[in-house]
Amino acid sequence: MKCPKCSAEMEAAIYAGKEIDRCTSCKGLWFNTDELTALVNDDWLAEYIDLGSPRVGRKTNEIQDIDCPECGATMATIVDEKQPHIEYEQCPKDCGMFFDAGEFKDLATKNFWDNLKPPAKI
Ligand SMILES: [Zn+2]
Ligand SMILES: [Zn+2]
Repeated sequence: MKCPKCSAEMEAAIYAGKEIDRCTSCKGLWFNTDELTALVNDDWLAEYIDLGSPRVGRKTNEIQDIDCPECGATMATIVDEKQPHIEYEQCPKDCGMFFDAGEFKDLATKNFWDNLKPPAKI
């Protein structure tokens, strides 16, 4: 599978018996919808899996209108309700979601500082 943002190869990162795809270049993460549902509320997942640099992630976050790596549909950009500085991409046919490096960790670690971050520019 190729990374929908930078076209590099994705590699399988195994966590709790699930295969999560991670880009070998930008370290973006691709989760199948059922993988993500199975691992929801797993506190260690983000720590273990999201190893990329948030600086790179902010760059790849600017790449929009990407195609779903599984079905080719144009993915929708989702702004997280509780943490509006985080934008991720979701396949309209529900194949899965793409997170730029650092985004998933950011999404999983909600804390006091998030309240002080400015909302994402649209
Ligand atoms: Zn990539
Ligand atoms: Zn899809």
